[in-house]
Amino acid sequence: MHKISVAGTGYVGLVAGVCFAEVGHHVTCVDIDEQKINMLKQGISPIYETGLEELMQKNYVAGRLDFTTDYIHAYKDADAVFIGVGTPEQPDGSANLSYIATAARQIAETIEKDCLVVVKSTVPVGTNDKVEQFIKDFLVNNVKVEVASNPEFLAQGTAVRDTLEAARIIIGTDSKWAEEMLMKIYEPFNLPIVSVSRRSAEMIKYAANDFLALKISYMNDIANLCELVGADIQDVARGMSFDERIGSKFLNAGIGYGGSCFPKDTKALDYLARQNGYEIRTVKAAITVNNDQKTVLYRKASNRLITFDGLKVAVLGLTFKPGTDDLREAPSLENVPLLLDRGAMIYAYDPVGSDNFRQKYPESEYKITYVKSPEEALSGANVCFIFTEWDEIKAVKPENYKNQMRTPLVYDGRNIYGIEDMKDAGVEYYSIGRQAVI
Ligand code: NAD
Repeated sequence: MHKISVAGTGYVGLVAGVCFAEVGHHVTCVDIDEQKINMLKQGISPIYETGLEELMQKNYVAGRLDFTTDYIHAYKDADAVFIGVGTPEQPDGSANLSYIATAARQIAETIEKDCLVVVKSTVPVGTNDKVEQFIKDFLVNNVKVEVASNPEFLAQGTAVRDTLEAARIIIGTDSKWAEEMLMKIYEPFNLPIVSVSRRSAEMIKYAANDFLALKISYMNDIANLCELVGADIQDVARGMSFDERIGSKFLNAGIGYGGSCFPKDTKALDYLARQNGYEIRTVKAAITVNNDQKTVLYRKASNRLITFDGLKVAVLGLTFKPGTDDLREAPSLENVPLLLDRGAMIYAYDPVGSDNFRQKYPESEYKITYVKSPEEALSGANVCFIFTEWDEIKAVKPENYKNQMRTPLVYDGRNIYGIEDMKDAGVEYYSIGRQAVI
């Protein structure tokens, strides 16, 4: 078993650290955020992920998992340091590599024995070559250090399962020493391993994510056309899904992808292409479609209503998808400010995302109220927007909209309901890629 340190206790770093401990490694998770480390030491996960807190507590108690801000102590005698810090988007679309650089420098200045540095963060092709050189430039002790790429494919909401039962592990290195150590580290997971060059590994991550983003934007594009020509996107998707070449996943039309990955990774690949004198037209199209898609319901509602001023607007779902408390690039963040600007009084419900949303839109400064149930949001509302398909929201029956709202006017960005069910319940219902119920 190895002594592993992980830089960054976000969705990627924390889940990786906990899962490494679960298979028997000795893991120290490092973060610069003291508040997060204090929570973790008390057994509280700063992020919402099914099963994470239990596994975290179990391995902490077993002595295989520790949390610290003291990176010197954590890195100095580690066999491997995994980097899982953020690589957020910059205004020009490129990835901000400053967190990676800081972590790399901290590693260079502290390691006291041979160490494999493994970059899990999503970074543009060629970054790890630079990270390796950077570490070597700042190295304080005379030790061997190499950098390998090991991109992460977990999806938020199912992160623990996605790690313990990953479809594949990608190992990107041109060194036998690094490859063998990573193979050993991952051996207890008993999962398929794909070993490729460092640059190919970096590209696999973007190519995979952007393909999924493209698939979503493609279905949203087809959905918009379905509405215009009288077809139903859900029937179309069902018909497509039986073709094994297409597959049945990621065929749901909606109000666009969000989250911390697809939006930034599509833009970063576009930036990388431009930097290399190439125009990546398919990915650019996915970005354009997605930007428009996020406000498609707001635009429909604006056409239908004379004004939002003084209307009670129920917003069901704030997070970018169910199963996470993450709001990054969530469609709600595009739509809520538009509605507030137009004078709406918002009653928002989300089973886990309200606290994070409140930090951006506090009740004291905006006409927004965070409620504890969908019913509270719907009661007396003039219009309802559905942005996230949480089970708690899917459980709302069509007749509840009719009975609880002042006017049963619903804009559903996740196609939760059957058209006929909403028609039977007497709800005026607009969704994505399907005929409106008027
Ligand atoms: P995050 O923002 O949730 O977490 C990053 C953490 O790193 C923060 O807690 C921050 O305080 C910490 N940090 C910053 N600098 C540090 C340093 N020098 N030392 C120690 N900790 C430091 O990020 P995330 O969502 O986990 O994403 C991390 C990377 O993984 C990104 O490149 C992302 O693109 C990629 N990724 C994310 C997901 C996902 O679903 N979130 C999936 C696959 C890949």
